[in-house]
This record gives sequence, C-alpha cells and structure tokens, in this order.
Amino acid sequence: MQKQPLNQDCIFCKIISGIIPSSKVFENETILAFLDVSPIKPGHTLIIPKGHYENLLDLPEQYYSELIKISQKIGKSIIESGLGTGFNLVQNNFPSAGQVVMHAHWHIIPRNDSDGLYC
Ligand code: ADP
Repeated sequence: MQKQPLNQDCIFCKIISGIIPSSKVFENETILAFLDVSPIKPGHTLIIPKGHYENLLDLPEQYYSELIKISQKIGKSIIESGLGTGFNLVQNNFPSAGQVVMHAHWHIIPRNDSDGLYC
C-alpha cells in the first residue's frame, strides 16, 4: 500500500519510527496500536495508520477495513481479558473537536457498568 511519509515533527510518527518508545498492542505493515500514555482507563489504546494523515478526512480508503478489523481484535481482547464489559471507539477531528495530536488516531477505551454513560 502507498503510504504518506512520516512527519519528523509529529509525535505519533516518532512512535512509529521508534524514536519515542511505546507499549505496542498490535502492529502490522499499515497499522500500529499502542497504550495511551495518559489512559482514561487501564487498557486505553490508540490505533494509528503508519503514514502521516492529519485526520479522518485525509485518510485513504485502503485503511478503512484494516482499521475496523484491528478495532474488533482489540475490542474482543478487552472483553475476553476482563478489562471491560464494553468499550468506546472514539476519534477526534480538528482542535475544536478535541484533537490534540494531529495524526489521525482512534481511542479504544475499556468500559464497565460502574463507569456511567458517556457521550
Ligand atoms: P485528547 O488528548 O483530547 O484525547 P487526541 O484525541 O488528539 O486528544 O488524543 C491524543 C492522545 O495521545 C491523548 O490521549 C494522549 O494521552 C496520547 N498521547 C500523547 N503522547 C503520547 C505518547 N508519547 N504515547 C502514548 N500516548 C500519547
């Protein structure tokens, strides 16, 4: 798959290239998943494309099915490991929507009944 080059000023690109360490949960040629450094809940994981795309609007279609497949795998392991009885898949686009790191990413966050409801 043709990928955007990494951006040397981007913190997630530095994680992809190994300049910044991360706790990897999953990795293949196109996708990396790693634990969030400031987790909302234990097991809070970030899923990113291994090319520099700022947000969902930039992301080429070739990534879509892979991202869903990986989300399913991680979601399943959250349930099976007992980290959560459910999980949120959250994706912020642009600063007004809470995006801080400008490299497209998905948060996958374990949830339990006692957490209450989120929107
Ligand atoms: P928000 O901080 O509002 O969730 P984003 O959706 O842009 O904004 O999420 C960026 C996420 O990246 C944050 O949850 C943050 O804790 C995480 N993060 C930042 N730097 C690192 C890092 N070096 N390793 C792991 N996670 C990181």
